Amino acid sequence: MKTAELFDNRTVFSLEIFPPKPDAEESVIYDTLEELSDICPDFISVTYGAGGGRNGCKTIQIASDIKNRYGVESVAHLPCIGLTRNQAGEILDSMQENGIENILALRGDCTDSRKGCGDFSHASELISFIRDNYDFNIIAACYPEVHPESGSAVEDLKWLRYKVDCGVDHLITQLFLDNRYFYSFIEKTRIAGINIPVEAGIMPVTNKRQIERMVKLCGVELPKKFVRILERYEHNETALRDAGIAYAIDQITDLIADGVDGIHLYTMNNPYVAHKIYEAVQSLVKVRACATEQ
Ligand code: FAD
Repeated sequence: MKTAELFDNRTVFSLEIFPPKPDAEESVIYDTLEELSDICPDFISVTYGAGGGRNGCKTIQIASDIKNRYGVESVAHLPCIGLTRNQAGEILDSMQENGIENILALRGDCTDSRKGCGDFSHASELISFIRDNYDFNIIAACYPEVHPESGSAVEDLKWLRYKVDCGVDHLITQLFLDNRYFYSFIEKTRIAGINIPVEAGIMPVTNKRQIERMVKLCGVELPKKFVRILERYEHNETALRDAGIAYAIDQITDLIADGVDGIHLYTMNNPYVAHKIYEAVQSLVKVRACATEQ
């Protein structure tokens, strides 16, 4: 099923996982999926390391297994930076052969070694390439607090509109910790004529190092309320985890009450945290029954 068909007068609830690190046991991800399976999300997306390599094969295999073994719709991420059109074509052919219908088309982060390599400079070019040659449902990324490389919010919005016009079916946001950024962003996107569904990306923060890394990488603001939590519980792992879960539940409750199109939970491959959040919000999101239960 194409994810665009899911947004039918209800809040979509999706999860994101990442493939195991090269030195980790492959089976670990299947234990995670097993534990996540009773959440019955609308779809699960699988990240893909920019620059290609072995990680990409894992993304395709895991996304295919989510769909074919677990009966849950899947989305494969695909960052295009450093890829030639031929390489992108080979990856997309393999995704198609594995029954994957949904692609999260991304540029990937521009490291010095990747800059100027390959045939794609921006996600919009990959999106046009996919639209011209395949029948995938296309998802793209957007940034309520503005992409760190953008000169201004107006410039970022201009390129987002261009990207959407290249053929995007739905958007997923970067994580944010202050819902006001999301509401203001949605207002601007609608004024700019972007009328496709936008899922809010929520990352439950469960350790201090993780959030410091994300803030540096994504330029996300830490609200005062959140900083107080970090400062009070940084040396108590369990308390910080529980406070992070409570914070995410509070964000999601507010977003759903405001009529958000969907919630995309960055699970960080942590089924315990995903379950706690799902239990708290499941009556708010009208999650479809699992294919196995139908
Ligand atoms: P783009 O849409 O190309 O935008 C990048 C920057 O260029 C922005 O500042 C934009 O305003 C500007 N821009 C866009 N088009 C043009 C143009 N034509 N001319 C000039 N400027 C332009 N990364 C991974 O490597 N693997 C993943 O699996 C992954 N998953 C992600 C999932 C989500 C939901 C999100 C939000 C991000 C994910 N990322 C992933 C990170 C993403 O690759 C980075 O944020 C990257 O820096 C930008 O990707 P993009 O697709 O948004 O790029």
